[in-house]
Amino acid sequence: MSRFPRPDYQPLDLYTPDRRPVALDLSDNTNLWGAPPAALAAVQAADDDVLTRYPLLYADDLKDAISQRCKVPLDSITTGCGSDDVLDSAFRAAGPGGGTVCFAGPTFSMVKPLALMNGRKPVEVPWSRALQSPDSLLEGDPLIVYVCRPNNPTGVSAPRSWLDKLLEAAGGSGGPLVILDEAYADFAPDSLLTEAPGIPNLLVTRTMSKAFGLAGFRVGFGVATPAVAREVEKSRGPYKVSRLSERAAVAALLDEDGWAQRTVAECAAARERLFLALKERGLQPFRSWANFILVPVPDGSAGWWNDSLRTHGVAVRPFPSCPDVGDALRVTVAPWPMLERFLKALDSVLAEGQVPAPEGARAARGRSTG
Ligand code: PMP
Repeated sequence: MSRFPRPDYQPLDLYTPDRRPVALDLSDNTNLWGAPPAALAAVQAADDDVLTRYPLLYADDLKDAISQRCKVPLDSITTGCGSDDVLDSAFRAAGPGGGTVCFAGPTFSMVKPLALMNGRKPVEVPWSRALQSPDSLLEGDPLIVYVCRPNNPTGVSAPRSWLDKLLEAAGGSGGPLVILDEAYADFAPDSLLTEAPGIPNLLVTRTMSKAFGLAGFRVGFGVATPAVAREVEKSRGPYKVSRLSERAAVAALLDEDGWAQRTVAECAAARERLFLALKERGLQPFRSWANFILVPVPDGSAGWWNDSLRTHGVAVRPFPSCPDVGDALRVTVAPWPMLERFLKALDSVLAEGQVPAPEGARAARGRSTG
C-alpha cells in the first residue's frame, strides 16, 4: 500500500483562501499604506552578493535590529520566514512527538494546520469559556497553549490580568509552552514582548508583515527566555531569512523617520471611523485593537456576502460559523478612500437586499457613504 497520502495528514489540506484578483483587497490585514521607504531604499541598494551568496545562518543582523528596537537581549530572540515559520518551529521545539496544542477560538486559521503538520493534536476552547477560566486551556495537560492577542479574527485583546492568571496556572518551566501571538500588537496599547525574556516557557511572536508593511518579504520573530529561544532556533534551522528580506527588515526596524508609527496612527484613526460607519449602518462590529474589524452577519450568509462584495470589486475575509460569533466578515483597515469604496460596495449590497440583513442595516439602505 502507498505511504501517500500520509494517514495523519488526512485532516490537512492546502491553504486556499480566496485570492482571485479584485480591485480592492481588504482580506489579508497587510499594510495598505504601502511599503516603508527605508526598506525600499535598502532593497534598491542590494548588490550581487545579496543574490549569489547564502544568507546569514541565524539572521544575526536582524536580531541586532530587533534587540535595538524592542529592547530585548540578543539571546532571547529567534527569527523565521514569517511568524508562521516561527510558530511552526516552536510547535516542533515544544517537545517530542504527539501531544496537544490547546487554543482559544476563533483564532488565527493556521494554528490547527500547524499543529497537524507537526504531529500534534489541535484542541479548541471557545474564547467565552477560556476567558471565564484560563484553566480550561490547560485541561488534558497540553504541550502547547496558543493565545493570539489582539486576536485574529475578532480584534479583541484579552485582559492583561487574564493573561497573568493563565501564565501562573501554566506553571512556568515545568508547564506547557505558552505561545502569545502578537502579530497585531503594534496596533494595540500593550504587549508582553519586553517581559518575555524573564518569563519561563513563554514565547511571544511578532511579524514584519502587518505594521511594518513587509508581508512579501516573509520575516517574523519571537522573544522568549534564552533556553526557549535556543530550542526554537534549533528546530528552525539555518538560512530561513533571505539576505534581501533581512536587509529590508533591518532598515524598517531601525528607520528613524517613523514611517511605521505614522501609518499605525493613521490606521487607528481609520479603524475608529470605520467602526462608527458600520454602526451607523446598523451592524454590530467588534471593537478591535488590530488593523482589521470583524463584522458579524446573519448565520449562513458569510459566503454570500463575500461573493456579493466581490461583484462590487471588494474582497473581505468571510468567516462562516465562528465559535462564539457565528458568521462574520473581517475587513482590513486601510486608508480612508479605500474604506469609502468598501462602504459604497456594502451599501450597494445592502440595497440589493437578497440576504436577511440585520434590522438596522435594512433601515440604513440607500444612505450615502460615511
Ligand atoms: N499570526 C497571526 C495572528 C496572523 O494573523 C498572521 C498572518 N495573517 C500570522 C501570525 C503570520 O504572519 P506572517 O507569517 O506573515 O508573519
